Amino acid sequence: MIPNDDGRDRRTLRSQKWSTARCDVTTQERRIRDERRTLFSSRKWKEAEAHFLISLPLILARIKHGREKWISRLWRRLRIQWNTSNTTRMAQAMMVVMTRPNTSILYSLVSFENSTVYDGLVQDRPGTARMTEHSAATSDTNPIELKYRGMKAAGGAAAWYFIPVVGGAAVPRRQLETLENVEIGSHPNSWNNVGRKHRPKLRDNKPHRLKAAQSRTTRVVRFETYTLQDGQMTLETDSDLLVQAKQFLLHSSRAYIRTGTARKYRRSETTATVLLSPDSHTGTLQSAMKWASRRRDEWVIFTVDKRHTRRLRRTSHYDAMVAIAVSVCRELDDVCATMSVYDLYALHWTSRRLCSPGIHIRNTAVIERELWSRGFLVRPTGSMVLKLPPSAQVSKLEARIAFRQTMIHSNLADTLVAPLMYALRIVEQSERQLGRALDTTKLWINSGKESCTCHLYPSSFPMRHGHIFIPSWEYTGPFKQTMTALMSSTVRSQYSPDAFKLAQYSCWKRNLPLGLLGEIWIYDRPDYPPEIVQHPLSSFRVRQLKTYLEDLVVMGIDKCRNRKLVLCPLLFRQKYRSTFPVQDDQVHFERITLSVEDYAAWLKKEYDRRKWYQIATWHNGSPPIPYNLWKLKDIITPCEKVMASKGKCCRQRPISPNTHHWCRRVFRRVGSVLRLICLSLPRSSVNFIRSQDLLQYIKEWNGSVDPEEVTRVILHVGDIANCYDELNHNDCLDGVAWALSNMPQWQQTTARPRRTIDRYSVDRFSRRDITAGPDLTSDRTRIELNTNQILSVCEFDIRNSILCIDGVLWKRLLGAPMGGFLSAFYAMLNFAYVEHKCVMPMFTKMGIPGGVKRYMDDIIVALLCRNPDEVAAATAFVHELNKPSVYPPPLCLNMEPQGNQEFLEANVTVSDNQLALSLNNKVVVDALYRLPPYRQRLSTKVSRAANRRVMQGILTRIIQSTSSDELIVTGILALRYEAQYYQMQDSLIRQVVSQAQVQARERQERDVEKALNKASQAMAK
Ligand SMILES: [Zn+2]
Ligand SMILES: [Zn+2]
Repeated sequence: MIPNDDGRDRRTLRSQKWSTARCDVTTQERRIRDERRTLFSSRKWKEAEAHFLISLPLILARIKHGREKWISRLWRRLRIQWNTSNTTRMAQAMMVVMTRPNTSILYSLVSFENSTVYDGLVQDRPGTARMTEHSAATSDTNPIELKYRGMKAAGGAAAWYFIPVVGGAAVPRRQLETLENVEIGSHPNSWNNVGRKHRPKLRDNKPHRLKAAQSRTTRVVRFETYTLQDGQMTLETDSDLLVQAKQFLLHSSRAYIRTGTARKYRRSETTATVLLSPDSHTGTLQSAMKWASRRRDEWVIFTVDKRHTRRLRRTSHYDAMVAIAVSVCRELDDVCATMSVYDLYALHWTSRRLCSPGIHIRNTAVIERELWSRGFLVRPTGSMVLKLPPSAQVSKLEARIAFRQTMIHSNLADTLVAPLMYALRIVEQSERQLGRALDTTKLWINSGKESCTCHLYPSSFPMRHGHIFIPSWEYTGPFKQTMTALMSSTVRSQYSPDAFKLAQYSCWKRNLPLGLLGEIWIYDRPDYPPEIVQHPLSSFRVRQLKTYLEDLVVMGIDKCRNRKLVLCPLLFRQKYRSTFPVQDDQVHFERITLSVEDYAAWLKKEYDRRKWYQIATWHNGSPPIPYNLWKLKDIITPCEKVMASKGKCCRQRPISPNTHHWCRRVFRRVGSVLRLICLSLPRSSVNFIRSQDLLQYIKEWNGSVDPEEVTRVILHVGDIANCYDELNHNDCLDGVAWALSNMPQWQQTTARPRRTIDRYSVDRFSRRDITAGPDLTSDRTRIELNTNQILSVCEFDIRNSILCIDGVLWKRLLGAPMGGFLSAFYAMLNFAYVEHKCVMPMFTKMGIPGGVKRYMDDIIVALLCRNPDEVAAATAFVHELNKPSVYPPPLCLNMEPQGNQEFLEANVTVSDNQLALSLNNKVVVDALYRLPPYRQRLSTKVSRAANRRVMQGILTRIIQSTSSDELIVTGILALRYEAQYYQMQDSLIRQVVSQAQVQARERQERDVEKALNKASQAMAK
């Protein structure tokens, strides 16, 4: 026998016969794959199953002869599991488990072209059924799931073989899942792990952090280890001391040495002898350990015949870096000035590893300054971001490769390429949406022009108030197809050969010295297909339309994301003025005399004075420039009608986006605290902030009383008018302060009880990760905010909300801006405080089953009355709610009359003295009344995948907000009607519903699954 450790590759000693067989099976496998491809492309699934079962012995032979590491590993597993290495016999066993209906299988999807595998399980049905599901999903023209997309790219369905790894009689599901997880865990490179969020980034593996030791595959059986001295056994548990002994005794399950010790002593000449057995092994300590670890349940004596100790030494470069990082103090600037860029980066990492945090921060500052002075703007711990536009048409990997080539071909030192690649991060920019591309509101607001341009366009264009006014669904001018398309569809970007070059150039310019840039490396793609000019969504067409409409304003419509409004600039300007009447309205606005730059400087001073840098960094921003959205209701109803009912027509929604505010990061961080507070409001409170919770509340109200007892249901909805514009600043702050002081009580039910909560800690990167109380993590990475800071930020924000109109700053004296980071929370907490004081006591005193709930400014009151007295009390309660003493003016609660109601997106109805909830499909209502398609969400012009996503979203909302099976069925039938109305194929809705069924089954939501089954039966009729 050839010893294992002679360094020779055993595979080179295979016989000639073996290599012939290997060549043979490889050719055979290719033939099988071709046959499979033909079967799949003609969608003959049954025949493909039979074909697979027949060719199984050959496929197994290919695995057996596979040279690739992962394939030989797979073969080893198969050999052990099926207890044979004869491919025919193994195939027979597999065939049995794959065709029988009551078996459980753990399987791998394997391709010989790709080392990634997919592990899965089948339970209580034949494996062939699951196999066909996989093949069908991969053969789909546009697979939904990431893994199928990957598999399609890596050879397609034909290349992926379904190999049962473990199989037998039905195994309990939980046991099977545990096994599956073990399988998946043993393949880090697996489709099951593809697309997982929060994958550890390369950068996070800090060089100085040791990884957790990998667990051994064999279970440790005996923990005791002994040293032997003159036949005397002494217990010695310190493995370092143990290995230093001349002779020691180990159980075979413990035969391994720690890496550090192994590096030192592994070359020592050692004899290993099995206790009470003649077996022995002579070699190095390392090989002896390996030999011993392969034995089962035996004690092994190790005798170190001659000890070789290796001294570990760092390179002189490392020592030099350590010396500089640790000992140079004041002259670090001078030392750094003489070092190379590579050494500077190395010095940073050495300092990070060895120095105390304080010294490291000081070192970093010096190193970064030195790097900046040489034009290297990328920080040692930072990243170089390469933004890939869609028109570049390269993948992330291709971009990495290309940028590496660019660096190699540049004048950068070769040693720098590897560390810089480590910092490179590729970000794919999203495709542009049609609505974004067409909207010109911002341009018109900033241009200040306001002349009428109606004469430049055909007089046949629809008008309102004497000027052009066209909702995009009514547009009939040139490029009609582009304008009437859904604004959420993406513009088909053209391949531009320069886009990738430009992206690399700008990345380099932002991070590295421009003078060192050589030739930029790009891919040659001469035969790239030219742009489809004819398509209404091609970027060419969109540009043409924009040019045609350049003298008109294209603006957004409120609550109607899929459409735009085209109108005359003069009309637009009038509406803009009346939406933000800063000049005339001294009650709401006050002029700020400072210029924008001076205001920013003043704000920075305030920021420093209030020490907000402890909360978040300063953003080099700009003032919010407000814009308006036309209200949909006022477009679809003629002006006269709106005038008659509301007293004014063509109403607008004001938005002042704070997205670029200088303190945006501060506000957002405080916002996450306020969000936590709103989420911790007790369940009994009126406020709720997740709209999908409504169903739960309705179910609770129904369940709180016996339906036989109920005689009448009082149901009202209403909304609080002036919710944002008229909020009183002091009331808002009172609300915030009240909520902060009540947090300890509200938190008690969930977390550890506390007497006071004086601070909150937020994760630096994830706004949703927030806890009440101090930062308890070991490395102190979270940001703490105390209640005083929160209150002071809120107060500053609400008293200093500004808007910039025509370059002049105005301060808002009343109300919170729509579009501010904290505005929604002010409104919520303001109302919550009012309700806590008035509404809840009233409601509790009344004692009628049912409830009062508010989502933002919408209120629902549902009372299940059991006798005439309660009806009277309930009516009085609703009457009382409407009084200004509850929601004080200028707030104003408008209640709809009693009866079935629309609330949020849903219909709330009363049937058999119980409340019922169902999703309100307004699109279907519009279609039935033959109204214009302004709410259209599905379109044949966009991709099937996009339509599917929209339908999936609607289906999810149907399930979330519908209270009974029958209503879910009705909702899905309505969705099908919508799909048919917009000429979708019927197969699409079936696919969406069956996917939802699979998901419900996986999540074990039996009710949902049952309802969906009913729906698909109803659709089949
Ligand atoms: Zn005009
Ligand atoms: Zn009007």
